[in-house]
Amino acid sequence: MADRQCILCGACMAVCPLLRATGREELSPRAKSDLNRLLAEGAADLSGDAVARLAGLCLGCHRCKAVCPQGVDVPEVVAQLRAAHPDFRRWLWKTWLTHAGTLWPAGSAAAKAVPEGLAPEKFGPSLRMLAGLSGGPGLTPLLEPVKFPDSCRGERMLLFAGCTATYVRKRWADTARRLLDGLGVEVLAADFGCCGSGLSAVGLSAEAGVLAERNLAAWRAAGRPRVAVFCASCLEGLRAYRPDDSAEAEAWRKALTPLSIVLHDIEFVVSPHATSAIGYHHPCHAPEPDPDLALLRRALGDRMVAATGKECCGFGGVMRLGAPELSATVNAGCWAALQGAELVLTGCSACATQLAATAPAGVTAGHWLELIA
Ligand code: SF4
Ligand code: SF4
Repeated sequence: MADRQCILCGACMAVCPLLRATGREELSPRAKSDLNRLLAEGAADLSGDAVARLAGLCLGCHRCKAVCPQGVDVPEVVAQLRAAHPDFRRWLWKTWLTHAGTLWPAGSAAAKAVPEGLAPEKFGPSLRMLAGLSGGPGLTPLLEPVKFPDSCRGERMLLFAGCTATYVRKRWADTARRLLDGLGVEVLAADFGCCGSGLSAVGLSAEAGVLAERNLAAWRAAGRPRVAVFCASCLEGLRAYRPDDSAEAEAWRKALTPLSIVLHDIEFVVSPHATSAIGYHHPCHAPEPDPDLALLRRALGDRMVAATGKECCGFGGVMRLGAPELSATVNAGCWAALQGAELVLTGCSACATQLAATAPAGVTAGHWLELIA
């Protein structure tokens, strides 16, 4: 809850990727929590613009929330500050998310048309990420499924693809459907929309609530089956829904299943052309332990040579609109932890697009679904 009392213990300071990358204590979760208290008490002598700027500087990784002994939800504090002090970035972010079907493919095509040398250095990574949104060839498939277990045969299931796979990376959802088909799962049709987590992060709770109701209605209409999800951020966004009925809330929580858990026992053959230097980026929003990493370790064995733990990719959501240089600083720490890997996989739409756009020369990166033939 956003109104729990911060005791300034500092437990969150050890996990904040923004603080670790910059060393700037004013960007830490404790400082944000304290700022919120000072504002509530009328003791902060700050302009609305200054509050908006500080509230804008958060990656929304949720790592601080996970370790706070008081249950302080700093990302929610930040969302409320962003709602109370709206600026053009929030409007831009909202427009970007609520018109994803038209803006994402068009924005990607426009970014591809900007010659590399003409883009200001500050915006280079953002433009590359935009350009890469619509995919291009993606990763070369290196894993072929050769044996499907019977454990899910005949089960009816929903697939939550999320905005990225729905609008620009359709290959991810196609591959997921083919694998579920191989398992003998009947994938039901559903009128899912965006998970709403990007809107919640900037305090647009009414708009996010409408999306939650739409997605819950689609699940109910399908008979409340399991919902397979292959984006860690979508999964966390969906897990945050709170249906009024407690039995239904529990059923919803149980229904949400990482796709990698459903696929875990498929046997894969690795292409002889596969590199033996594969890395994995653990998304900030992924469950612990991470089922995507378990699936990849089982399929790829000792080809997995590096994995991030606490390093954030630096995507940052709305933050990158105002502070792309901070996003780049955090991102550099992530690549340092993946040194030695020639191919980097991850299980979050945002991390996958960010890593594909920022990969060092000679390294490729993408969602692990791209690796499967
Ligand atoms: S937000 Fe939580 S973990 Fe961070 S200083 Fe306050 S009480 Fe401690
Ligand atoms: S959500 Fe992440 S970036 Fe934001 S304050 Fe918490 S730990 Fe730091």
